Amino acid sequence: MSKSYKVAVLSGDGIGPEVMAEALKVLDAVQAKFDVSFERTFANVGGIAIDEDGQALPEKTVDVCKASDAILFGSVGGPKWETLPPDEQPERGALLPLRKIFGLFCNLRPAIIFPALTGASSLKEEVIAGGFNILVVRELTGGIYFAEPKGIEGEGGARTGFDTMKYSDAEVERISHVAFQAARKRGSKVCSIDKANVLSTSVLWREVVERVAKEYPDVELSHMYVDNAAMQLVKWPKQFDVMVTKNMFGDILSDAAAMLTGSIGMLPSASLDANSKGMYEPIHGSAPDIAGKGVANPLATILSVAMMLRYSLDYATLADKIEHAVGRVLDQGLRTPDIMADGCREVGTVEMGEAVLGELSA
Ligand code: NAD
Repeated sequence: MSKSYKVAVLSGDGIGPEVMAEALKVLDAVQAKFDVSFERTFANVGGIAIDEDGQALPEKTVDVCKASDAILFGSVGGPKWETLPPDEQPERGALLPLRKIFGLFCNLRPAIIFPALTGASSLKEEVIAGGFNILVVRELTGGIYFAEPKGIEGEGGARTGFDTMKYSDAEVERISHVAFQAARKRGSKVCSIDKANVLSTSVLWREVVERVAKEYPDVELSHMYVDNAAMQLVKWPKQFDVMVTKNMFGDILSDAAAMLTGSIGMLPSASLDANSKGMYEPIHGSAPDIAGKGVANPLATILSVAMMLRYSLDYATLADKIEHAVGRVLDQGLRTPDIMADGCREVGTVEMGEAVLGELSA
């Protein structure tokens, strides 16, 4: 019998609705060709929600997300809402509450460079020839960004600012399991990034990761200090399969890894809860500078659909098909302006989406 899933679609602002439209066509194509269906419910988020419902994350949007198996998110924000108090602005007022309400403790950030796009990377051709595929697994709800106490004490020129870095056994255990399970679906290698030579939280982190690793004898575990990891990422990214790390290190390393691929318009992400329900979104923002021009790259959002199929809906084979279709379109030389190169053909958002559809339906 055909399986049916509920998907909350939160397109947001700027280029969000443009790239989401192409991603949903891909979902249509998957539905038409394979024995699965996706019931979508659209809901406002970000600036459009502020304009139409009075807040960045309306109650009814939360209800739609609660009733869904997965959330597809476009992008939020723009100059129109930048003068609002920080907590009411689109990103802070929608993204952080969504993570909190749905317990999205785990952020998966793939940094994939397709062989056809190696020219877009800032690294030398010989370092990245053939492409690379790294998955950064970042703890998202703990560590120094959230632990208490934090604040600024004192007055005048004698103030002290302080934050607390804290991790419990349970927090490290659950993120470690996600990393080992993801590695099993990929290259079977996990590199845990810490600073165990200096930080007590990292000593505990390393002990717990090693304990969890015993449950995954088929996955190879290594450890690396975060400063060395930053160097190795730039020097020889192909050595990594899955990198697992705490909130702050993951924040920095995932952005560095993403930029090695050369284009923000190519990269998807997932944020998961303990039951693999997740929110899937491109890593880019609402790109107000190109919104409405029909030139935004839809591939990050299309690849977010692939991640949704892989991680929340357990359809790895369909995810593979979408990723291969994207690879073939790039091999044909089709490029949106952000990834344009000599000898390629420039296309807009819709033509790029349709090319992926063509490959999927072939
Ligand atoms: P941005 O990611 O929107 O844009 C950065 C640059 O990359 C711009 O030049 C843009 O044109 C380009 N770009 C981004 N996505 C692209 C795509 N798919 N195709 C082609 N080019 C693309 O970051 P920003 O300019 O710092 O932020 C703009 C707005 O987005 C701000 O309001 C910010 O708060 C918001 N933002 C939202 C999210 C989110 O929704 N998750 C993330 C980051 C920024």
